[in-house]
Amino acid sequence: MNVYTLPELVVKSKSQELLLPKKHIQGKCILCSKETEQGHRVKDSLSGNFTNWSMLNKGNCVCPTCYTFFKDQVHRRKSWVATEKEFRILDKEEKKEILWNVPDPPFFIHIAHTGQKQPWITCIHKVSYSKNKFYFTHENFGEIFFEREKAEHFRTIIKEALSKKITKTELLTQFRMKTYEKAWKEGFEDLLEEIKKHRKNLLWEVIVTLT
Ligand SMILES: [Zn+2]
Repeated sequence: MNVYTLPELVVKSKSQELLLPKKHIQGKCILCSKETEQGHRVKDSLSGNFTNWSMLNKGNCVCPTCYTFFKDQVHRRKSWVATEKEFRILDKEEKKEILWNVPDPPFFIHIAHTGQKQPWITCIHKVSYSKNKFYFTHENFGEIFFEREKAEHFRTIIKEALSKKITKTELLTQFRMKTYEKAWKEGFEDLLEEIKKHRKNLLWEVIVTLT
């Protein structure tokens, strides 16, 4: 199997390999760390309001592949999934389903919220090669490690909680007195204890948000 950087996979998914805009700087790409002879100037590659400088690598230019990936605003504004064969924008419903229904690897999933941030910048070398354990990005949470068994366990608990009228806010912060009362009366205190254990877990938070 080919080992792709995230920009390489996305460029491949759109069949853009032969159309990459090339310049003449020789050196190392600050995004993927690969050597290039056709690099772009850094200041031409990143937008004026770019704030993730600390996440960049040592280098002097941006390679044509990373340049193309970074220039396309769709990657920041939209939720999407990329594979070797396809780049697909996800609508609201697909956004909720994609983690449970991932494509064959290699793939990468990004979930946007308002479309402002570029959390995938930390995932240049984290394309997914497994359906059960992989990194994906969510605009509000950044880079998240998905483990299917754990995620499915979380989803079961979350669905059970929602069916008992526990709110998403409670799943993320704290329970209302009303919920404690209900739990004592109906005997689901164990469920509340279980939820408490997961509240600070990023994967938990994302699944609550997407359920
Ligand atoms: Zn690069």
